[in-house]
Amino acid sequence: SGRVDVDERAVADLAAHLRGELIRPRDAAYDQARRVWNGSISRFSGLIARCASRDDVSAAVRFARGNDVLVAVRGGGHSFPGYSVCDDGLVIDLSPMNGIRVDPDARTASVQAGALLGDLDRATQQHALAVPSGIVTHTGVAGLTLGGGLGWLMRKHGLTIDQLLSVGMVTADGGFVRASASENPELFWGVRGGGGNFGIVTEFEFRLNRVGPILMAGPVFWPGTESVKVLRFYREWIAEAPDDLMTMVVHRRAPDVDWMPSDLRGQPVVAVVSCFAGPVEDGEEVMKPLKAFGHPVLDLCRPKPFLEHQAMFDPSYPPGRWYYMRSCDVAELTDEVINITADHAARITSPLTAFPIWQGGGAAARVPEDDTAFHGRAAGHTFNINAATEGPDGFDRERDWVRNFWSDLEPFHTSVYVNFLMDEGEERVRQAYGEAKYTRLRALKRAWDPENFFRLNQNIAPLPA
Ligand code: FAD
Repeated sequence: SGRVDVDERAVADLAAHLRGELIRPRDAAYDQARRVWNGSISRFSGLIARCASRDDVSAAVRFARGNDVLVAVRGGGHSFPGYSVCDDGLVIDLSPMNGIRVDPDARTASVQAGALLGDLDRATQQHALAVPSGIVTHTGVAGLTLGGGLGWLMRKHGLTIDQLLSVGMVTADGGFVRASASENPELFWGVRGGGGNFGIVTEFEFRLNRVGPILMAGPVFWPGTESVKVLRFYREWIAEAPDDLMTMVVHRRAPDVDWMPSDLRGQPVVAVVSCFAGPVEDGEEVMKPLKAFGHPVLDLCRPKPFLEHQAMFDPSYPPGRWYYMRSCDVAELTDEVINITADHAARITSPLTAFPIWQGGGAAARVPEDDTAFHGRAAGHTFNINAATEGPDGFDRERDWVRNFWSDLEPFHTSVYVNFLMDEGEERVRQAYGEAKYTRLRALKRAWDPENFFRLNQNIAPLPA
């Protein structure tokens, strides 16, 4: 593999037209450039176009279209199933396009599609502003936003898409359009959850919210054997939680890191991780019952820079490890759900496996379901059953653990977040959007990409013409 069946002159012509670099299998940069976050994905594309501008993206699209070449589009490269790289074909890599312009007075940010969450946070926090995004700084703004965007600020400010004012997009014919509430509104509806199905978004314009810079945030840990008790307490504690508070529960074996007491390392632990987006004093008050529950073995929840909290999970999910995951939403943490969770958590074998259960509700849940293509705003909790190993050793066992856990939760599944799907087939994509939205998205797909040129994604099949 690693070929494209295209006339050399056409390839040379593309290279000459790009401001960015065109990388081929024989180039020194190739092996690094073809890698994505999930180390279990190893594909060999024929060409990688590192785009430096919107015109580069158009040129790459026209080249692929004209020569019938398969295209993968890459923002931050964090697709769990590895949709941002393909065998043979052309990768349109947006990573060089990572410029960010913040207007602190208008409280808006223009963000190019290759930017990472950490880039966006650093640029906006200079003004104590933020776009609610995700929980790992090396995730791409593009893929995360186009699927919805869950994170620490969603209960207070909503999803990432709820801040979106407009996008600029290169279409399947290489043209350029804008979409906003007033311009191509149906397309604007669709890109807020519909992923990369309609074209290649080159820039996003976001509204900014006041955040931090110091927030009460961090994890409180208990022994894994306390999981059932902690989850039952947690259920009561968050029942009356203000929107300022966002939490998730993480089960894992305590990592081998400096800040972890040495006697805990490798032992199963359960942590409630919190982020209080309001005043620190209020956060201290809200956190009191949690900190006083049972006998925490470690309490790292304290006032800290929002930027520091945003990076807290980075060491747990580095690029290159082998990852596998399954996800589902549940309405509530019933006793049965809690028992299943504790039972499977106790059976984690890999020291690298860490799975979060996200709290839902708040501002994200108050946006009407039909305002955007995103589906599942009413989710009570989102299970992200995520397993990791250093490489192939033990990977199959962790994958089986994920599948069994997920299957045991099946009676409680409600919705599923499209960005937490693996390559699970059309039926699951349909579930991720619900029947009505999926049909509406199929019509939009027919309008913008009837030939399904953009198909390496959670694919929405165009309605027949
Ligand atoms: P890529 O692999 O580059 O792209 C993902 C998909 O989007 C591909 O199909 C790609 O073709 C398409 N795409 C990328 N850029 C564009 C573009 N500019 N135009 C059109 N299509 C495009 N999600 C959350 O909501 N909240 C989280 O906190 C969160 N944390 C995560 C942490 C980790 C470590 C990982 C791996 C994922 C996380 N996710 C989270 C899921 C994440 O939102 C998705 O994996 C998302 O697709 C990643 O976007 P990307 O640009 O990095 O990925």
